[in-house]
Amino acid sequence: MVWYAYATIMTVIATQLQAVHARIAAACHAAGRDPADVSLLAVSKTFGPDAVRAAHAAGQTAFGENYIQEAVDKMAALADLSLQWHCIGPIQSNKTRLVAEHFAWAQTVDRLKIAQRLSEQRPPGLPPLQVCLQVNVDGGATKSGVAPGDVLALARAVAALPRLQLRGLMCIPDPVADFAGMQEVFLRAKAVYEDLRAAGLPLDTLSMGMTSDLEAAIHAGSTLVRVGTAIFGGRSYAQG
Ligand SMILES: *Cc1c(COP(=O)(O)O)cnc(C)c1O
Repeated sequence: MVWYAYATIMTVIATQLQAVHARIAAACHAAGRDPADVSLLAVSKTFGPDAVRAAHAAGQTAFGENYIQEAVDKMAALADLSLQWHCIGPIQSNKTRLVAEHFAWAQTVDRLKIAQRLSEQRPPGLPPLQVCLQVNVDGGATKSGVAPGDVLALARAVAALPRLQLRGLMCIPDPVADFAGMQEVFLRAKAVYEDLRAAGLPLDTLSMGMTSDLEAAIHAGSTLVRVGTAIFGGRSYAQG
C-alpha cells in the first residue's frame, strides 16, 4: 500500500459513508422516524483491512462480515482499532467457537443447537454475545432463517442461555422490484418482532435493509441497516 492510494480510498469511502447517512436520514424523515433510532452496520466482506480502516477514520465503528475465517484474519490486522464486529453470514457448528471468541454480535442464529454452542463457547472474559435470530419472512423452504411461526419458541430458549443476550431479529428477504412489495415483506418482519416484544422479550434490534432496499426497510421499522456496496463499492467474489 502506498500512501496516496490509501488517501484515495479514504476520501472515496468517507464520501460514500456520508451519502449513506444522508439516505438513512432522508428515509427516516419520510417515515417520520428519528435518525438516531437507525444505526448503520458497514458490511466489509471481501474488502481488506485498509477499507475498514478508512471507514473507521470516517467515523464508522460497527462492521459486518459473512465469512468467518476472513473476518477473523481482518480483525487481527485491525487489532489496534476499537471496532464492533457482527457476524452476518451462516454459522455452521464447526464455526461457532470462532464466532463466540471473536465477534460482538451474531445476527444469523436460526437454530437452538447453534445458540447453545455459542453460549457454551463464549469466553468468560467477554461480555455476552449479542444475538439476533434470523427469520425467514419470505418463505422458501431452502432459505435459512427460522419460520415466523417458530420464532417465539426459539427466542424464549435463546433468551434463557447464560452467555448470550438476545437483541432482536434480522432478515435477508429476496429483492422485490417495487418499493411497496419490498416494504410489505419487511412489515412482516416488523410484525413478528412486535409480537415477540408483546410476549415480553426485551428486544431493541430489527436488522433489515441493505444497499438496494434500506429505504423500504426503514419505512417498515428497521433499527439497523447493513450496507456494503454503497459504502465500499462492488464486490469481487473471486477473493471471498
Ligand atoms: C452482503 C450483505 C449485506 C450488504 O449488502 P449490500 O447490498 O452490499 O449492501 C447485508 N447483509 C447481509 C446478510 C449480507 O450478506
